[in-house]
Amino acid sequence: MSAEVAKVAEEEFVDYEEDQAVVADAAGDAKKGSYAGVVSTGFREMLLKAPLMNALQDCSFEHPSEVQQECLPQALYGSDLICQAKAGTGKTAVFVLATLQLIEPDDKVDTLVMCHTRELAYQICREYLRFAKYMPEIRVHVYFGGIPVQKHKDMLKSATPHIVIGTPGRVLQLVTEKDLDLSSVKRVIFDECDSLLKEVDMRSVVQQVFQQTPHNKQVMLFSATIPKEIRAVARLFTAPNPIELYVDDESKLTLHGLLQFYVELSDEQKNRKLNELLDSLEFNQVIIFVSSVSRCQALNKFLNEFGFPSIAMYGGLAQEERLKRYNDFKEYKARFLVSTDIFGRGVDFERVNIVINYDMSKDADTYLHRVGRSGRFGTKGLSVTLISSDEDKEVLKQVQERFSVDVKPMPEKIEISTYMSA
Ligand code: ADP
Repeated sequence: MSAEVAKVAEEEFVDYEEDQAVVADAAGDAKKGSYAGVVSTGFREMLLKAPLMNALQDCSFEHPSEVQQECLPQALYGSDLICQAKAGTGKTAVFVLATLQLIEPDDKVDTLVMCHTRELAYQICREYLRFAKYMPEIRVHVYFGGIPVQKHKDMLKSATPHIVIGTPGRVLQLVTEKDLDLSSVKRVIFDECDSLLKEVDMRSVVQQVFQQTPHNKQVMLFSATIPKEIRAVARLFTAPNPIELYVDDESKLTLHGLLQFYVELSDEQKNRKLNELLDSLEFNQVIIFVSSVSRCQALNKFLNEFGFPSIAMYGGLAQEERLKRYNDFKEYKARFLVSTDIFGRGVDFERVNIVINYDMSKDADTYLHRVGRSGRFGTKGLSVTLISSDEDKEVLKQVQERFSVDVKPMPEKIEISTYMSA
């Protein structure tokens, strides 16, 4: 991607349309771990080209993770792929590296990546930029809704991208209005594919975009959670008999380095408990998940008043503000982030070692994705979930049953070394 296009893409980062429903108010660096050692194939044996090997070195990717070991050779071979692997284990690099290895850039779109949120699209774009550092001829564009479509149209007029990353709505609009031509696409990737395919409305938009791509192409779908019914839907997008890699079965999807506890209390006791937790625990960065925009704003205010400078992240923020907050947290300018489920999956903040579910998630899958924001790439982490209703208890029960994980009551004292990498 040219520097100019990269700049435009960054400038055009936009906010995310989220359920804006307002409900009653309430309210040091982690060392990278590693999955290497389990298997022996290195990036070198995968015969990646020199610009990619150099970029891998710059990114300090020494050994492929398990999912990369399993999936990258298949992706490089051009196979259709459905891949489920734990959060934070390096699925993004599978399709980014495969695309950049296989691409033969001409004046057509080669690769289309779709995902469900704008932040994730932005993050994926950045991953492409990191790995295409030594491939200056590759143009990467990212498109999502919320900003004047004319800007994207102008970008497309000035240069045809080789790699397009986008959220389904905006991509469909650009295709329908004949600004974006997907008729020569060679690869289509769905990241967090269950989110793209679960809801009928989103799925229908995804399908309409997909129909604009040629019959012969490589299709790859990724997520940490691909429930059985979604697997069947996913297969409708691939060639018959795609390679299906479930790096772990569902019961093993929780992260090894992650300690998980819960605390039972009333809603009114939550702020006090949170205060106690933040006072007593050691952390690099913390994400606190809440159930609504209004609770997010209220809790953020509370934390700031109590000396825990935090950033609030929710849908409906102005575009520039949204990007600023994402980048500020990524760059460690704040240690606390209060977020709705908007950042419940996909996003990668490598220094986060504690996730607090101030409000329990609505379902077990969302819980798994949220807690997977810590303990990423083999690092240690801790999650604490505040349980205040029978519904919360029910979700916790489902989590324990489905993922065979023992979420225990929070003990009085937790040894720091069990959740902080040295
Ligand atoms: P996932 O998509 O599986 O949730 P990501 O692709 O976001 O995970 O990767 C999680 C983190 O691990 C990112 O910070 C990424 O840069 C890092 N990472 C991925 N693969 C490797 C590797 N082989 N070596 C070192 N770090 C890696």
